[in-house]
Amino acid sequence: NTNEMILVFDSISVNEGLARVTAASFCTQLNPTLEEVADLKTAVSEAVTNCIIHGYEGKINKIEMKLQYHGNELYVHITDYGIGITDIEKAMEPMYTSKPDHERSGMGFTFMEAFMDEIRVESQPGKGTTVHMKK
Ligand code: ATP
Ligand code: MG
Repeated sequence: NTNEMILVFDSISVNEGLARVTAASFCTQLNPTLEEVADLKTAVSEAVTNCIIHGYEGKINKIEMKLQYHGNELYVHITDYGIGITDIEKAMEPMYTSKPDHERSGMGFTFMEAFMDEIRVESQPGKGTTVHMKK
């Protein structure tokens, strides 16, 4: 039982919904509970919003979402080719945000960690960021 797809889309906010619904629909093959689907959608939404707002700072560029399952395990990888993150550990701290004046609460990574079983962030300043998540 294995499957994989890649969705590439522009970094505009309407596509956050597209990414969320695509991930939800891909995972139905695994017979998830409603709660698991809701958790996945929240995590995807937070990761994609980060690419749009932080990675590309509002400029339009491509975001890639790779979805895979092997057996009963679902993997989500979300990539941007934007500014990257210099201090990943600090970025992932609850309530840390580099944009406190833009009504951000700094809880995106905390939600991703809470709603998924595993999350790993890979980033290179000036090259971009990939968030790997498993559920
Ligand atoms: P919230 O998600 O609550 O609206 P936030 O986006 O600032 O606020 P997190 O999602 O936890 O909080 O992200 C923490 C910080 O990590 C961001 O403020 C930003 O500095 C950095 N960051 C997150 N994702 C990216 C990304 N894709 N590219 C560059 N920087 C990022
Ligand atoms: Mg965020």
